Amino acid sequence: MNQTKEVRTRFAPSPTGFLHVGGARTALFNYLYARSQGGKFILRIEDTDQNRSTEDSFKIILESLQWLGIQWDEGPGVGGDHGPYIQSERLGIYKEYTDKLLKEKKAYRCFCTQEELEAKKKQAEAMGVPYVYDGLHANMSDEEVDAKLKAGIPYSIRFKTPSKTLIIDDIIQGKVKFETKLIGDFIIVKSDGFPSYNYAVVVDDALMKISHVIRGVGHLSNTPRQILLYEALGYEVPEFAHASEIVGMDGKKLSKRAGATSILAFRDLGYLPETFRNYMALLGWTSPDGREFLTSGELETIFDVHRCSKSPSTFDVFKKPKGGDEEVVTNFSDLAQIAEAMNPKSKLNWLSNRTIRDLNISKVLEALFPFIRDRKDIPEEVKNPSNTTLTSIVESVRVYLDNLTQAPDYIAEFFVTDLRIQSEEAAGFLKEGDGPKVVGEFYGMLKKEAPKTDEDYKNLMSKVGEISGQKGKTLYMPIRAATTGKSAGLELPILFPLLGKEKLLQRIEKTAAEVGISLSS
Ligand code: GLU
Repeated sequence: MNQTKEVRTRFAPSPTGFLHVGGARTALFNYLYARSQGGKFILRIEDTDQNRSTEDSFKIILESLQWLGIQWDEGPGVGGDHGPYIQSERLGIYKEYTDKLLKEKKAYRCFCTQEELEAKKKQAEAMGVPYVYDGLHANMSDEEVDAKLKAGIPYSIRFKTPSKTLIIDDIIQGKVKFETKLIGDFIIVKSDGFPSYNYAVVVDDALMKISHVIRGVGHLSNTPRQILLYEALGYEVPEFAHASEIVGMDGKKLSKRAGATSILAFRDLGYLPETFRNYMALLGWTSPDGREFLTSGELETIFDVHRCSKSPSTFDVFKKPKGGDEEVVTNFSDLAQIAEAMNPKSKLNWLSNRTIRDLNISKVLEALFPFIRDRKDIPEEVKNPSNTTLTSIVESVRVYLDNLTQAPDYIAEFFVTDLRIQSEEAAGFLKEGDGPKVVGEFYGMLKKEAPKTDEDYKNLMSKVGEISGQKGKTLYMPIRAATTGKSAGLELPILFPLLGKEKLLQRIEKTAAEVGISLSS
Protein backbone atom coordinates (compact mmCIF):
# COMPACT_ATOMS: atom_id res chain seq x y z
CA MET A 1 0.00 0.00 0.00
CA ASN A 2 1.15 3.48 -0.77
CA GLN A 3 1.54 4.91 2.74
CA THR A 4 1.57 8.54 1.67
CA LYS A 5 -1.85 8.34 0.06
CA GLU A 6 -4.67 9.99 1.95
CA VAL A 7 -7.09 7.51 3.50
CA ARG A 8 -10.54 8.13 2.06
CA THR A 9 -13.37 5.81 3.06
CA ARG A 10 -17.03 5.91 2.27
CA PHE A 11 -20.41 4.62 3.35
CA ALA A 12 -22.69 4.07 0.39
CA PRO A 13 -26.17 3.10 1.56
CA SER A 14 -29.06 2.41 -0.76
CA PRO A 15 -32.08 4.31 0.57
CA THR A 16 -34.38 1.30 0.54
CA GLY A 17 -35.13 0.86 4.25
CA PHE A 18 -33.92 1.63 7.76
CA LEU A 19 -30.31 1.87 8.78
CA HIS A 20 -29.87 -1.50 10.48
CA VAL A 21 -27.04 -2.92 12.50
CA GLY A 22 -25.09 -4.31 9.53
CA GLY A 23 -25.20 -1.01 7.68
CA ALA A 24 -24.49 1.02 10.78
CA ARG A 25 -21.44 -1.08 11.57
CA THR A 26 -20.15 -0.60 8.03
CA ALA A 27 -20.63 3.15 8.38
CA LEU A 28 -18.87 3.13 11.74
CA PHE A 29 -15.86 1.10 10.57
CA ASN A 30 -15.39 3.46 7.63
CA TYR A 31 -15.79 6.51 9.83
CA LEU A 32 -13.43 5.26 12.55
CA TYR A 33 -10.78 4.15 10.11
CA ALA A 34 -10.80 7.51 8.36
CA ARG A 35 -10.56 9.28 11.74
CA SER A 36 -7.74 7.12 13.08
CA GLN A 37 -5.74 7.64 9.89
CA GLY A 38 -6.38 11.37 9.71
CA GLY A 39 -8.32 10.77 6.50
CA LYS A 40 -11.75 11.63 5.14
CA PHE A 41 -15.08 9.86 5.44
CA ILE A 42 -17.55 10.26 2.58
CA LEU A 43 -21.28 9.57 2.50
CA ARG A 44 -22.74 8.64 -0.88
CA ILE A 45 -26.34 7.71 -1.53
CA GLU A 46 -26.79 4.84 -3.98
CA ASP A 47 -30.31 5.36 -5.25
CA THR A 48 -30.06 3.84 -8.69
CA ASP A 49 -32.75 1.30 -7.91
CA GLN A 50 -35.60 3.61 -8.75
CA ASN A 51 -38.30 1.18 -7.65
CA ARG A 52 -36.98 0.64 -4.18
CA SER A 53 -35.37 3.97 -3.22
CA THR A 54 -37.46 6.31 -1.11
CA GLU A 55 -37.10 9.79 0.31
CA ASP A 56 -38.22 8.52 3.72
CA SER A 57 -35.45 5.99 3.85
CA PHE A 58 -32.91 8.63 2.81
CA LYS A 59 -34.03 10.82 5.72
CA ILE A 60 -33.99 7.94 8.22
CA ILE A 61 -30.47 6.94 7.20
CA LEU A 62 -29.22 10.49 7.67
CA GLU A 63 -31.01 10.82 11.00
CA SER A 64 -29.56 7.50 12.16
CA LEU A 65 -26.00 8.49 11.25
CA GLN A 66 -26.47 11.83 12.95
CA TRP A 67 -27.79 10.16 16.08
CA LEU A 68 -24.79 7.82 16.10
CA GLY A 69 -22.47 10.80 15.78
CA ILE A 70 -21.01 9.49 12.54
CA GLN A 71 -20.25 12.72 10.73
CA TRP A 72 -19.30 12.71 7.09
CA ASP A 73 -16.66 15.05 5.70
CA GLU A 74 -18.15 15.02 2.23
CA GLY A 75 -21.64 14.10 1.15
CA PRO A 76 -25.26 15.24 1.14
CA GLY A 77 -25.77 18.48 3.00
CA VAL A 78 -22.02 18.96 3.44
CA GLY A 79 -20.80 19.08 -0.13
CA GLY A 80 -17.22 18.45 -1.18
CA ASP A 81 -14.97 18.49 -4.22
CA HIS A 82 -16.18 15.20 -5.66
CA GLY A 83 -19.95 15.66 -5.76
CA PRO A 84 -22.75 15.27 -6.41
CA TYR A 85 -22.94 12.60 -3.71
CA ILE A 86 -26.29 11.17 -4.73
CA GLN A 87 -26.05 8.72 -7.60
CA SER A 88 -29.27 9.75 -9.33
CA GLU A 89 -27.65 13.16 -9.80
CA ARG A 90 -24.60 11.63 -11.46
CA LEU A 91 -26.21 10.02 -14.51
CA GLY A 92 -24.31 12.30 -16.89
CA ILE A 93 -21.02 11.20 -15.37
CA TYR A 94 -21.78 7.50 -15.82
CA LYS A 95 -22.82 8.13 -19.41
CA GLU A 96 -19.46 9.65 -20.19
CA TYR A 97 -17.70 6.49 -19.02
CA THR A 98 -20.20 4.21 -20.69
CA ASP A 99 -19.63 5.92 -24.04
CA LYS A 100 -15.92 5.45 -23.57
CA LEU A 101 -16.29 1.75 -22.77
CA LEU A 102 -18.59 1.28 -25.78
CA LYS A 103 -16.16 3.05 -28.05
CA GLU A 104 -13.26 0.98 -26.83
CA LYS A 105 -15.41 -2.13 -27.37
CA LYS A 106 -15.08 -3.02 -23.68
CA ALA A 107 -18.85 -2.93 -23.42
CA TYR A 108 -21.70 -3.59 -25.81
CA ARG A 109 -25.44 -3.19 -26.14
CA CYS A 110 -27.51 -6.24 -25.37
CA PHE A 111 -30.92 -6.39 -27.01
CA CYS A 112 -32.04 -9.62 -25.38
CA THR A 113 -35.54 -9.41 -24.00
CA GLN A 114 -36.43 -10.35 -20.44
CA GLU A 115 -38.17 -13.48 -21.74
CA GLU A 116 -35.13 -14.58 -23.71
CA LEU A 117 -32.90 -14.15 -20.68
CA GLU A 118 -35.34 -16.02 -18.43
CA ALA A 119 -35.40 -18.90 -20.90
CA LYS A 120 -31.59 -19.06 -20.91
CA LYS A 121 -31.55 -19.07 -17.11
CA LYS A 122 -34.12 -21.87 -17.00
CA GLN A 123 -32.14 -23.90 -19.47
CA ALA A 124 -28.98 -23.59 -17.38
CA GLU A 125 -30.95 -24.60 -14.30
CA ALA A 126 -32.33 -27.66 -16.06
CA MET A 127 -28.82 -28.66 -17.05
CA GLY A 128 -27.63 -28.10 -13.50
CA VAL A 129 -24.95 -25.58 -14.50
CA PRO A 130 -24.52 -22.03 -13.17
CA TYR A 131 -26.07 -19.44 -15.44
CA VAL A 132 -23.58 -17.34 -17.35
CA TYR A 133 -24.79 -14.94 -20.03
CA ASP A 134 -23.72 -16.28 -23.40
CA GLY A 135 -22.59 -12.96 -24.90
CA LEU A 136 -25.02 -13.27 -27.80
CA HIS A 137 -24.75 -9.62 -28.85
CA ALA A 138 -21.10 -9.13 -28.00
CA ASN A 139 -19.88 -9.06 -31.55
CA MET A 140 -22.66 -7.37 -33.52
CA SER A 141 -21.54 -5.07 -36.29
CA ASP A 142 -22.07 -1.32 -35.91
CA GLU A 143 -24.69 -1.51 -38.68
CA GLU A 144 -26.68 -4.18 -36.90
CA VAL A 145 -26.60 -2.18 -33.68
CA ASP A 146 -27.66 1.01 -35.47
CA ALA A 147 -30.57 -0.74 -37.08
CA LYS A 148 -31.83 -2.02 -33.75
CA LEU A 149 -31.38 1.39 -32.16
CA LYS A 150 -33.32 3.02 -34.97
CA ALA A 151 -36.08 0.47 -34.52
CA GLY A 152 -36.29 1.59 -30.90
CA ILE A 153 -35.54 -1.83 -29.45
CA PRO A 154 -34.78 -1.50 -25.74
CA TYR A 155 -31.34 -2.55 -24.60
CA SER A 156 -29.04 -2.79 -21.64
CA ILE A 157 -25.29 -2.36 -21.76
CA ARG A 158 -23.04 -5.22 -20.80
CA PHE A 159 -19.42 -5.27 -19.84
CA LYS A 160 -17.27 -7.63 -21.88
CA THR A 161 -15.77 -9.64 -19.06
CA PRO A 162 -12.18 -10.65 -19.79
CA SER A 163 -11.38 -14.19 -18.80
CA LYS A 164 -8.71 -14.40 -16.15
CA THR A 165 -7.85 -15.51 -12.63
CA LEU A 166 -8.19 -12.71 -10.09
CA ILE A 167 -6.69 -12.81 -6.65
CA ILE A 168 -8.14 -10.33 -4.22
CA ASP A 169 -5.94 -9.56 -1.25
CA ASP A 170 -8.63 -8.52 1.18
CA ILE A 171 -7.50 -6.81 4.39
CA ILE A 172 -9.89 -8.90 6.49
CA GLN A 173 -10.67 -11.99 4.41
CA GLY A 174 -7.14 -12.56 3.14
CA LYS A 175 -6.38 -13.83 -0.36
CA VAL A 176 -9.44 -14.91 -2.32
CA LYS A 177 -9.22 -16.38 -5.82
CA PHE A 178 -11.86 -15.90 -8.53
CA GLU A 179 -12.19 -17.21 -12.07
CA THR A 180 -13.84 -14.39 -14.00
CA LYS A 181 -15.15 -16.67 -16.74
CA LEU A 182 -17.80 -17.75 -14.24
CA ILE A 183 -19.15 -14.21 -14.18
CA GLY A 184 -19.99 -13.74 -17.83
CA ASP A 185 -20.74 -10.40 -19.45
CA PHE A 186 -22.71 -8.48 -16.84
CA ILE A 187 -25.02 -5.48 -17.12
CA ILE A 188 -23.51 -2.10 -16.34
CA VAL A 189 -26.39 0.05 -17.59
CA LYS A 190 -29.95 -1.21 -17.14
CA SER A 191 -32.63 -0.78 -19.78
CA ASP A 192 -34.05 2.18 -17.80
CA GLY A 193 -30.76 3.97 -18.42
CA PHE A 194 -29.64 3.75 -14.80
CA PRO A 195 -26.23 2.25 -14.02
CA SER A 196 -26.09 -1.07 -12.20
CA TYR A 197 -24.71 -1.11 -8.66
CA ASN A 198 -21.40 -2.72 -9.66
CA TYR A 199 -20.76 -0.12 -12.30
CA ALA A 200 -21.81 3.06 -10.51
CA VAL A 201 -19.92 2.03 -7.40
CA VAL A 202 -16.67 1.75 -9.34
CA VAL A 203 -17.03 5.01 -11.25
CA ASP A 204 -17.87 6.80 -8.01
CA ASP A 205 -15.25 5.18 -5.82
CA ALA A 206 -12.64 5.98 -8.47
CA LEU A 207 -13.73 9.59 -8.99
CA MET A 208 -14.17 10.16 -5.26
CA LYS A 209 -10.63 8.84 -4.77
CA ILE A 210 -11.69 6.20 -2.25
CA SER A 211 -8.60 4.46 -0.90
CA HIS A 212 -10.31 1.77 1.22
CA VAL A 213 -13.61 0.06 0.53
CA ILE A 214 -14.84 -1.31 3.85
CA ARG A 215 -18.17 -3.15 3.73
CA GLY A 216 -19.96 -6.35 4.69
CA VAL A 217 -18.65 -9.70 3.53
CA GLY A 218 -21.82 -10.14 1.45
CA HIS A 219 -20.23 -7.86 -1.11
CA LEU A 220 -17.08 -9.95 -1.54
CA SER A 221 -18.65 -11.76 -4.48
CA ASN A 222 -19.20 -8.42 -6.24
CA THR A 223 -15.57 -7.45 -5.89
CA PRO A 224 -14.19 -9.30 -8.96
CA ARG A 225 -16.67 -7.50 -11.23
CA GLN A 226 -15.63 -4.23 -9.69
CA ILE A 227 -11.92 -4.91 -10.05
CA LEU A 228 -12.41 -5.75 -13.73
CA LEU A 229 -14.17 -2.42 -14.19
CA TYR A 230 -11.38 -0.48 -12.45
CA GLU A 231 -8.95 -2.13 -14.80
CA ALA A 232 -11.07 -1.42 -17.87
CA LEU A 233 -11.45 2.23 -16.89
CA GLY A 234 -7.74 2.53 -16.11
CA TYR A 235 -8.16 3.34 -12.44
CA GLU A 236 -6.10 2.21 -9.49
CA VAL A 237 -7.89 -0.50 -7.53
CA PRO A 238 -8.59 0.51 -3.89
CA GLU A 239 -7.89 -1.69 -0.88
CA PHE A 240 -10.81 -3.90 0.10
CA ALA A 241 -11.83 -4.92 3.60
CA HIS A 242 -14.89 -7.12 3.90
CA ALA A 243 -16.10 -7.25 7.49
CA SER A 244 -17.28 -10.52 8.99
CA GLU A 245 -20.83 -11.65 9.10
CA ILE A 246 -22.94 -10.67 12.11
CA VAL A 247 -24.72 -13.63 13.68
CA GLY A 248 -27.35 -13.96 16.42
CA MET A 249 -27.08 -15.76 19.76
CA ASP A 250 -27.83 -19.02 17.98
CA GLY A 251 -24.76 -18.58 15.80
CA LYS A 252 -26.94 -18.21 12.72
CA LYS A 253 -27.31 -15.30 10.39
CA LEU A 254 -29.42 -12.60 12.06
CA SER A 255 -33.07 -13.28 11.38
CA LYS A 256 -34.46 -11.08 8.64
CA ARG A 257 -36.46 -8.92 10.97
CA ALA A 258 -33.96 -8.76 13.83
CA GLY A 259 -31.27 -7.83 11.31
CA ALA A 260 -33.46 -5.15 9.82
CA THR A 261 -34.35 -3.47 13.11
CA SER A 262 -33.82 0.24 12.83
CA ILE A 263 -30.88 1.62 14.75
CA LEU A 264 -33.20 4.38 15.91
CA ALA A 265 -35.19 1.81 17.89
CA PHE A 266 -32.20 1.57 20.23
CA ARG A 267 -32.21 5.33 20.69
CA ASP A 268 -35.90 5.11 21.59
CA LEU A 269 -35.15 2.27 24.00
CA GLY A 270 -32.84 4.51 25.98
CA TYR A 271 -29.38 3.58 24.70
CA LEU A 272 -26.85 6.34 24.23
CA PRO A 273 -25.14 6.78 20.87
CA GLU A 274 -21.77 6.43 22.61
CA THR A 275 -22.81 2.98 23.80
CA PHE A 276 -24.07 1.85 20.47
CA ARG A 277 -20.92 2.99 18.71
CA ASN A 278 -18.78 1.18 21.25
CA TYR A 279 -20.88 -1.97 20.89
CA MET A 280 -20.80 -1.96 17.11
CA ALA A 281 -17.06 -1.31 16.98
CA LEU A 282 -16.63 -4.65 18.75
CA LEU A 283 -18.60 -6.53 16.11
CA GLY A 284 -15.60 -7.98 14.34
CA TRP A 285 -12.85 -5.78 15.76
CA THR A 286 -10.80 -6.01 18.95
CA SER A 287 -8.67 -3.35 20.57
CA PRO A 288 -4.92 -3.97 20.80
CA ASP A 289 -5.02 -4.36 24.60
CA GLY A 290 -8.29 -6.26 24.66
CA ARG A 291 -10.27 -3.55 26.43
CA GLU A 292 -13.90 -3.41 25.43
CA PHE A 293 -15.29 -0.34 27.14
CA LEU A 294 -13.85 2.43 25.00
CA THR A 295 -14.75 6.07 24.65
CA SER A 296 -15.52 7.54 21.27
CA GLY A 297 -12.24 9.44 21.42
CA GLU A 298 -10.31 6.23 21.99
CA LEU A 299 -12.10 4.47 19.17
CA GLU A 300 -11.33 7.31 16.79
CA THR A 301 -7.65 6.94 17.66
CA ILE A 302 -7.05 3.22 17.87
CA PHE A 303 -9.50 1.65 15.43
CA ASP A 304 -7.65 -0.19 12.70
CA VAL A 305 -9.39 -2.22 10.04
CA HIS A 306 -6.30 -4.46 9.87
CA ARG A 307 -7.24 -5.79 13.32
CA CYS A 308 -10.66 -6.99 12.18
CA SER A 309 -11.33 -10.70 12.34
CA LYS A 310 -12.95 -12.73 9.62
CA SER A 311 -14.81 -15.02 12.00
CA PRO A 312 -18.48 -14.16 12.50
CA SER A 313 -19.27 -11.73 15.27
CA THR A 314 -22.15 -12.27 17.66
CA PHE A 315 -24.86 -9.69 18.03
CA ASP A 316 -26.05 -10.62 21.52
CA VAL A 317 -28.67 -7.89 21.84
CA PHE A 318 -31.57 -10.25 21.19
CA LYS A 319 -32.27 -13.45 23.07
CA LYS A 320 -31.61 -16.73 21.37
CA PRO A 321 -34.57 -17.72 19.23
CA LYS A 322 -36.50 -20.53 20.87
CA GLY A 323 -35.65 -23.50 18.70
CA GLY A 324 -35.89 -23.82 14.94
CA ASP A 325 -36.32 -20.70 12.93
CA GLU A 326 -38.95 -19.35 15.24
CA GLU A 327 -38.37 -15.72 16.08
CA VAL A 328 -38.60 -14.32 19.57
CA VAL A 329 -40.83 -11.47 18.55
CA THR A 330 -43.14 -10.95 15.68
CA ASN A 331 -42.90 -7.24 15.13
CA PHE A 332 -39.53 -5.55 15.08
CA SER A 333 -40.96 -2.11 14.57
CA ASP A 334 -42.88 -2.25 17.85
CA LEU A 335 -40.68 -0.92 20.64
CA ALA A 336 -42.35 -2.92 23.40
CA GLN A 337 -41.84 -6.13 21.44
CA ILE A 338 -38.23 -5.28 20.68
CA ALA A 339 -37.63 -4.61 24.37
CA GLU A 340 -39.23 -7.95 25.17
CA ALA A 341 -36.91 -9.74 22.73
CA MET A 342 -33.77 -8.21 24.20
CA ASN A 343 -31.21 -10.18 26.14
CA PRO A 344 -30.86 -8.55 29.59
CA LYS A 345 -27.29 -9.86 29.94
CA SER A 346 -26.06 -8.53 26.61
CA LYS A 347 -22.72 -6.84 26.16
CA LEU A 348 -24.77 -3.88 24.98
CA ASN A 349 -26.37 -3.57 28.41
CA TRP A 350 -23.04 -3.92 30.16
CA LEU A 351 -21.50 -1.20 28.00
CA SER A 352 -24.61 0.90 28.36
CA ASN A 353 -24.47 0.77 32.14
CA ARG A 354 -20.79 1.75 32.06
CA THR A 355 -21.44 4.59 29.68
CA ILE A 356 -24.35 5.95 31.69
CA ARG A 357 -22.17 5.78 34.81
CA ASP A 358 -19.09 7.35 33.29
CA LEU A 359 -20.42 9.91 30.87
CA ASN A 360 -20.49 13.60 31.69
CA ILE A 361 -23.70 14.00 33.74
CA SER A 362 -25.01 16.84 31.62
CA LYS A 363 -24.97 14.59 28.54
CA VAL A 364 -26.89 11.92 30.41
CA LEU A 365 -29.45 14.47 31.59
CA GLU A 366 -29.95 15.81 28.12
CA ALA A 367 -30.48 12.36 26.65
CA LEU A 368 -32.84 11.56 29.52
CA PHE A 369 -35.24 14.41 28.86
CA PRO A 370 -37.43 12.68 26.23
CA PHE A 371 -37.95 9.80 28.65
CA ILE A 372 -39.24 11.94 31.52
CA ARG A 373 -40.96 14.66 29.50
CA ASP A 374 -44.43 13.12 29.63
CA ARG A 375 -44.25 11.64 33.11
CA LYS A 376 -46.98 13.03 35.34
CA ASP A 377 -45.37 11.67 38.49
CA ILE A 378 -42.25 13.82 38.09
CA PRO A 379 -42.71 17.54 38.83
CA GLU A 380 -42.39 19.78 35.78
CA GLU A 381 -39.77 22.06 37.31
CA VAL A 382 -37.50 19.09 37.95
CA LYS A 383 -37.52 17.92 34.33
CA ASN A 384 -35.16 20.61 33.11
CA PRO A 385 -31.79 18.95 32.40
CA SER A 386 -30.03 21.63 34.45
CA ASN A 387 -32.23 21.21 37.52
CA THR A 388 -30.03 20.52 40.56
CA THR A 389 -32.43 18.10 42.25
CA LEU A 390 -32.68 16.05 39.06
CA THR A 391 -28.91 16.15 38.74
CA SER A 392 -28.40 14.76 42.25
CA ILE A 393 -31.01 12.09 41.76
CA VAL A 394 -29.55 10.93 38.45
CA GLU A 395 -26.02 11.06 39.89
CA SER A 396 -27.22 8.63 42.56
CA VAL A 397 -29.30 6.28 40.49
CA ARG A 398 -27.31 6.05 37.30
CA VAL A 399 -25.24 3.12 38.54
CA TYR A 400 -28.41 1.04 38.38
CA LEU A 401 -29.36 1.83 34.81
CA ASP A 402 -28.85 -0.36 31.77
CA ASN A 403 -30.71 2.12 29.65
CA LEU A 404 -32.47 5.43 30.13
CA THR A 405 -36.00 4.02 30.01
CA GLN A 406 -35.31 2.58 33.46
CA ALA A 407 -34.62 6.01 34.95
CA PRO A 408 -38.09 7.59 35.21
CA ASP A 409 -39.41 5.05 37.74
CA TYR A 410 -36.41 5.63 39.98
CA ILE A 411 -36.76 9.37 39.67
CA ALA A 412 -40.49 9.31 40.33
CA GLU A 413 -39.79 7.43 43.53
CA PHE A 414 -38.37 10.62 45.02
CA PHE A 415 -41.56 12.56 44.44
CA VAL A 416 -44.19 10.17 45.76
CA THR A 417 -46.47 12.17 48.05
CA ASP A 418 -49.20 9.72 48.81
CA LEU A 419 -47.06 6.73 49.73
CA ARG A 420 -48.82 3.39 49.97
CA ILE A 421 -47.56 -0.07 50.69
CA GLN A 422 -47.12 -1.73 47.36
CA SER A 423 -47.04 -5.42 48.14
CA GLU A 424 -47.94 -8.09 50.65
CA GLU A 425 -44.27 -8.78 51.05
CA ALA A 426 -43.51 -5.18 52.01
CA ALA A 427 -46.44 -5.16 54.43
CA GLY A 428 -45.09 -8.35 56.00
CA PHE A 429 -41.66 -6.84 56.65
CA LEU A 430 -43.34 -3.96 58.41
CA LYS A 431 -45.80 -5.85 60.54
CA GLU A 432 -44.17 -9.16 61.33
CA GLY A 433 -41.41 -10.22 63.70
CA ASP A 434 -39.28 -7.37 64.88
CA GLY A 435 -40.41 -5.14 62.01
CA PRO A 436 -42.47 -2.76 64.16
CA LYS A 437 -39.64 -2.44 66.67
CA VAL A 438 -37.05 -1.63 63.99
CA VAL A 439 -39.29 0.92 62.32
CA GLY A 440 -40.16 2.49 65.65
CA GLU A 441 -36.50 2.84 66.61
CA PHE A 442 -35.59 4.26 63.20
CA TYR A 443 -38.41 6.76 63.36
CA GLY A 444 -37.51 7.85 66.91
CA MET A 445 -33.86 8.27 66.18
CA LEU A 446 -34.45 10.09 62.91
CA LYS A 447 -36.62 12.58 64.77
CA LYS A 448 -33.86 13.33 67.22
CA GLU A 449 -30.92 13.51 64.85
CA ALA A 450 -30.14 15.50 61.74
CA PRO A 451 -28.56 13.10 59.24
CA LYS A 452 -27.49 14.61 55.93
CA THR A 453 -25.08 12.40 54.05
CA ASP A 454 -25.26 8.74 53.07
CA GLU A 455 -22.67 8.06 55.80
CA ASP A 456 -24.93 9.74 58.40
CA TYR A 457 -27.79 7.50 57.35
CA LYS A 458 -25.61 4.39 57.38
CA ASN A 459 -24.52 5.21 60.94
CA LEU A 460 -28.06 5.87 61.98
CA MET A 461 -29.19 2.51 60.64
CA SER A 462 -26.31 0.71 62.40
CA LYS A 463 -27.37 2.29 65.68
CA VAL A 464 -30.93 1.13 65.08
CA GLY A 465 -29.50 -2.31 64.40
CA GLU A 466 -27.59 -2.35 67.70
CA ILE A 467 -30.57 -1.24 69.73
CA SER A 468 -33.01 -3.61 68.09
CA GLY A 469 -30.58 -6.50 67.85
CA GLN A 470 -31.14 -6.84 64.10
CA LYS A 471 -28.86 -6.79 61.14
CA GLY A 472 -29.00 -7.45 57.40
CA LYS A 473 -32.39 -8.21 55.96
CA THR A 474 -34.34 -8.00 59.20
CA LEU A 475 -32.94 -4.52 59.73
CA TYR A 476 -33.13 -3.03 56.23
CA MET A 477 -36.32 -4.56 54.97
CA PRO A 478 -38.66 -3.04 57.56
CA ILE A 479 -36.98 0.34 57.05
CA ARG A 480 -37.26 -0.01 53.28
CA ALA A 481 -40.89 -1.01 53.42
CA ALA A 482 -41.67 1.86 55.80
CA THR A 483 -39.96 4.50 53.68
CA THR A 484 -40.72 3.31 50.16
CA GLY A 485 -43.70 0.97 50.46
CA LYS A 486 -41.69 -1.61 48.53
CA SER A 487 -39.45 -4.56 49.22
CA ALA A 488 -36.86 -3.71 46.56
CA GLY A 489 -35.35 -0.63 45.01
CA LEU A 490 -32.55 1.85 45.38
CA GLU A 491 -29.99 1.50 48.12
CA LEU A 492 -31.36 3.29 51.13
CA PRO A 493 -28.28 5.43 51.92
CA ILE A 494 -28.60 6.79 48.38
CA LEU A 495 -32.30 7.46 48.61
CA PHE A 496 -32.44 8.95 52.10
CA PRO A 497 -30.20 12.02 51.77
CA LEU A 498 -32.10 13.02 48.64
CA LEU A 499 -35.49 12.57 50.26
CA GLY A 500 -34.45 14.36 53.45
CA LYS A 501 -35.52 13.89 57.05
CA GLU A 502 -38.95 15.54 56.87
CA LYS A 503 -40.20 13.53 53.92
CA LEU A 504 -38.88 10.34 55.46
CA LEU A 505 -40.71 10.97 58.72
CA GLN A 506 -43.94 11.66 56.85
CA ARG A 507 -43.56 8.52 54.80
CA ILE A 508 -43.01 6.35 57.86
CA GLU A 509 -46.06 7.89 59.58
CA LYS A 510 -48.18 6.99 56.53
CA THR A 511 -47.03 3.42 56.09
CA ALA A 512 -47.12 2.72 59.83
CA ALA A 513 -50.68 3.96 59.98
CA GLU A 514 -51.58 1.84 56.97
CA VAL A 515 -50.52 -1.39 58.70
CA GLY A 516 -51.60 -0.21 62.14
CA ILE A 517 -48.31 0.13 64.00
CA SER A 518 -48.05 2.93 66.46
CA LEU A 519 -44.95 5.05 66.53
CA SER A 520 -43.84 6.38 69.85
CA SER A 521 -43.25 10.08 69.63
N1 GLU B 1 -25.25 0.48 -2.00
C1 GLU B 1 -24.58 -0.71 -1.58
C2 GLU B 1 -25.30 -1.31 -0.40
O1 GLU B 1 -26.04 -0.62 0.28
C3 GLU B 1 -23.15 -0.36 -1.24
C4 GLU B 1 -22.23 -1.50 -1.20
C5 GLU B 1 -20.78 -1.05 -1.18
O2 GLU B 1 -20.37 -0.54 -0.13
O3 GLU B 1 -20.11 -1.17 -2.17
O4 GLU B 1 -25.17 -2.47 -0.11
